[in-house]
Amino acid sequence: DNLINIKGVRHAYHTATGPLPVLDGLDVQVPEGGFVAVVGPSGCGKSTLTRLIAGLLIPDEGTVQVHGSRITGPRSNVGMAFQNPVLLEWRTILENVMLPLEIVPTKLSKAEGQARARKLLALVGLEGFEAKRPSELSGGMKQRASLCRALIHKPEVLILDEPFGALDAFTREDLWQTMHKVKAEEPFTGVLITHDLRESIFLADQVVVLSGRPARTQFVMDIPGTG
Ligand code: ADP
Ligand code: ADP
Repeated sequence: DNLINIKGVRHAYHTATGPLPVLDGLDVQVPEGGFVAVVGPSGCGKSTLTRLIAGLLIPDEGTVQVHGSRITGPRSNVGMAFQNPVLLEWRTILENVMLPLEIVPTKLSKAEGQARARKLLALVGLEGFEAKRPSELSGGMKQRASLCRALIHKPEVLILDEPFGALDAFTREDLWQTMHKVKAEEPFTGVLITHDLRESIFLADQVVVLSGRPARTQFVMDIPGTG
């Protein structure tokens, strides 16, 4: 059964010069525990897709379901990480990772939340950096911290919108290794937006290719041997 089921989605943005059709036949299915990469040229609607899954946007036509229910509003059980991690400078790394626990209520006590944040930071190789400020970290380390923040609530869906795009090649490949480790220790259902075909093949078990204007799902490739 699919955790994420997007079928026949069409969507246009309303702009000053009239409607801008962006998606015309988007189909994406992700089984529970699956990791799908979405690739396609700039402007083809990849970020729009992430907004649909997070419930920040309701499509003109078609269905977007997560866990069998149709999405009608913002979802709190979606973790997101972006190309430029926004970490709060007046907070330590540990406090940044714990931030979502303050925004969305949880069953965890403060001590349990802190223990979970520490465990995630250790998993991504940031043990010893808990008390640092964001500006004391490299770009790759900030991205690791923002990944921990996205995972703190054990989200049903983890959305990664070009998280490694701004990093140098060596740092990026280090983070790919880290992602495999994270996936093994903290299972999630993932949607990775990327321009990098190598990245999609290394990380995902399925690649969805979008193209056209307005864009549609052109084809889906299964990547053997990563699951
Ligand atoms: P991608 O992430 O693949 O680069 P986006 O989903 O960001 O694509 O954008 C798809 C198209 O929709 C682009 O032409 C973009 O300019 C346009 N677009 C994105 N967001 C909006 C918006 N809020 N209002 C109007 N147009 C938008
Ligand atoms: P990306 O390609 O990573 O989505 P963009 O630079 O295309 O980033 O877009 C940055 C932000 O600007 C997005 O939140 C998008 O919704 C918004 N945006 C993009 N294009 C338009 C547009 N034509 N009109 C209004 N907002 C837009």
